[in-house]
Amino acid sequence: MAYQIKISGTDVVFSAEKGERLLDAAARAGLNFPHACRCGFCGMCAATVVSGDFIAYAPGSAEGRPSKGPRILTCSTEAASDAEISIQFTRLSPNVRMRVASMERLAPDVIRLVLQPVSGEPFSYLPGQFVDFILEGGERRSYSIAAAHAKAGLELHIRHVPGGLFTDRLFGVKGDPVAKGTEFEVAAPSGEFRIDRESGHDIVFLMTGTGFAPAKAMIESLISRPLEGKAVYLYWGGRHRVDLYMDELCRSWDAKYEWFHYCPVLSRATPEEAWDGRTGHVQNAFVADHPDASGFDAYICGSMRLVEDSVRALTAAGMKEENIRSDAFTSKAGLN
Ligand SMILES: Cc1cc2nc3c(=O)[nH]c(=O)nc-3n(C[C@H](O)[C@H](O)[C@H](O)COP(=O)(O)OP(=O)(O)OC[C@H]3O[C@@H](n4cnc5c(N)ncnc54)[C@H](O)[C@@H]3O)c2cc1C
Repeated sequence: MAYQIKISGTDVVFSAEKGERLLDAAARAGLNFPHACRCGFCGMCAATVVSGDFIAYAPGSAEGRPSKGPRILTCSTEAASDAEISIQFTRLSPNVRMRVASMERLAPDVIRLVLQPVSGEPFSYLPGQFVDFILEGGERRSYSIAAAHAKAGLELHIRHVPGGLFTDRLFGVKGDPVAKGTEFEVAAPSGEFRIDRESGHDIVFLMTGTGFAPAKAMIESLISRPLEGKAVYLYWGGRHRVDLYMDELCRSWDAKYEWFHYCPVLSRATPEEAWDGRTGHVQNAFVADHPDASGFDAYICGSMRLVEDSVRALTAAGMKEENIRSDAFTSKAGLN
């Protein structure tokens, strides 16, 4: 059974099947709502209810409850009647068929995947955005683009999540093997995680693991077009040395650009690693170096926990919440 969902103030109506999340139903109708995490954490896909009934799912829960109140998260809510909602939207660009151009292990659990459009048409995006792979049964997995330009292809850094549908396949654990030439359906780039060039603040990137991917794209764009008179700090965290899989590149930027400062941080270095750098968590290392963070904009990317802990640490150090942008790499498990 399908319900009709009207978008307030427009003549747009889309149909949502029973059991289908509104964000997915809208995408089926060619409509793009702002979104990122897809599991009820980030709040980017919020809509205001004008009329109708909805069932909402809490993050990580398979059990829906009747939604109360005027705000719903379209990624985690299904319709229970015809309805009207108010939300900003754009028309979705068509999906692109892409082919694996190269695959390279950057670390035991990280692969750098480069994709090229099968059509050979140019592919454009803004540094910091992500793409969705559309898998069997309509499942989607998001990956941040890890280069400022797609000249050599679309670069992605993908970490293995054991038991995961897509990454088990990519890492050859289960499912159809992925190799040079494998084709995927990829949705047009989206996401609002982008450099605000007008803010007039210094910048800090707080990233862990493959959260480095969007930082790499944004830093490369700053290298092409630096922010005059502004400093840029990258605090990149991992458990062990091997997790900082492009450490040398970051060190080379630090040596080359006087405005760029790189601080690697390890949380679980063993004595055998002979690590003489910073230890602990990236947000604490940054705040220790900059007890007054009010002159910074922060860009945070990694686990939900990193985002939450960093927002707490940064606001306690005087940073305004509106100067903090984040992308949480949430997954089906919801809490990684
Ligand atoms: C905006 C965005 C950008 C991202 N960018 C990147 C990136 O650049 N690089 C990167 O490595 N990752 C990124 N991610 C994470 C990525 O999208 C995937 O979530 C991740 O790769 C896991 O996908 P998967 O299909 O392998 O695992 P999934 O199938 O999603 O499973 C993940 C884990 O959850 C478990 N699980 C599956 N189903 C359930 C369930 N119902 N209940 C409880 N547990 C369950 C699985 O066993 C597994 O351990 C991003 C996420 C977002 C939202």
